[in-house]
Amino acid sequence: MARVRTAEIVAVGSELLTPFRLDTNSLVITERLNELGVALTGKSVVGDDRSRLATRLREALARADLVVATGGLGPTADDVTRDAAAEVVGRELVEDPAVLSTIRERFARRGVRMPEINRRQAQVIAGAALLPNPYGTAPGQLLEIEGRLLVLLPGPTREMQAIFDESVRPRLERSGAPGVERRVVKVTGRSESQVEEIAHPIYARWLDAEPVIETTILASPGVIELHLSTLAEDAALGREALERAARELEAALAPAAFSIDGRPLERVVGKLLHDRGWTIAVAESCTAGLLLARLTEVPGSSAWVLGGVVAYADDVKTRHLGVPASLIASEGAVSAAVAEAMADGVRERFGADVGVGVTGIAGPGGGSDAKPVGTVWIAVSAANRARQRYLFPGDRQAVRQHAVAAALDLVRRQSGVWVPT
Ligand code: ATP
Ligand code: MG
Repeated sequence: MARVRTAEIVAVGSELLTPFRLDTNSLVITERLNELGVALTGKSVVGDDRSRLATRLREALARADLVVATGGLGPTADDVTRDAAAEVVGRELVEDPAVLSTIRERFARRGVRMPEINRRQAQVIAGAALLPNPYGTAPGQLLEIEGRLLVLLPGPTREMQAIFDESVRPRLERSGAPGVERRVVKVTGRSESQVEEIAHPIYARWLDAEPVIETTILASPGVIELHLSTLAEDAALGREALERAARELEAALAPAAFSIDGRPLERVVGKLLHDRGWTIAVAESCTAGLLLARLTEVPGSSAWVLGGVVAYADDVKTRHLGVPASLIASEGAVSAAVAEAMADGVRERFGADVGVGVTGIAGPGGGSDAKPVGTVWIAVSAANRARQRYLFPGDRQAVRQHAVAAALDLVRRQSGVWVPT
């Protein structure tokens, strides 16, 4: 095990220098290093250029105890991280027969012949420790050079993360400096300033407490996140302090706080349904499938999600959900009555325990004085019914995201008053 105090991350890939791709791998790596008390002294992005990358790696190794490179371990000619790193440490690249056969087997399992170019991925820097890749062909590599560590990880996030957790982290000791522990409290149905008003007096106290807990608020449409962090010599004590802090915020923000362990709203809802053995079906107009997509992001959701109807046109609401055309004519498609009829209709037609109806005006056109852009009606039809009107801020995408969060939240809150069957 190596004790490292400082680290630098080099994200490799020309696409990361374009407006289209962002280096997010470094965030994942940083979080893990911070937990170990390792401070980041810098990070950078380099294109797929062997000599520039070699220079960057050299510079980084001169500054930090640990350098993590991510990306550029693929089979194509522009994947040059192995070559650049070999050059920097002055060692040969050798083909590793065991790695080669693992890659061949990977292809064989999918019934395809390994393209010759994939041989490149079996090239290992002499003396490097190999870090198995459970999700891809290129293994990671770890080298020790004059007491410093150089780690090469592939670019795809899932592969990079798995290798880090399974093979890099166990080789690193805590730095001796306090590690960062984090906790996320999630809130919905309140604006950032409403959350701040309640939370600030609480978390302001933590800045003078022992251990000190720092809080950051991050807002996205439909969800406000409070990120708590503390520096702890003892990780268990740090986690305990954060647990108490998260519970305090949860109580103050009830019932809007839906998660104190980072779980997203759809998981919280999924668990509520699962625990009751209930099923759900959704009828969506302005969200057009986004709600169903969110519900089914949860692994195992087939146990509680039956399906849904995207009823964008009035005629579809009538034919596929049984919403009376006269109701749409008299109340308007965006109305309490239509949201309810959609929820009832989908619940009955799918034979679900819970039906949800969402209808609204996402904009930018289609608003009126009575129903401005951002107006959304959501109804939940279950043992008990609920319906609510919302006026969401933001552009079309934000309104749709808000509506999805609000629909999930209405199901969550309504589940509290469901009569057990
Ligand atoms: P591959 O065998 O897939 O080519 P690789 O190690 O060569 O692996 P890259 O080609 O650099 O990796 O990247 C593959 C994909 O991984 C990219 O298209 C991108 O989506 C993602 N990726 C790479 N680097 C990063 C990064 N720093 N942050 C987020 N995603 C990344
Ligand atoms: Mg590549």
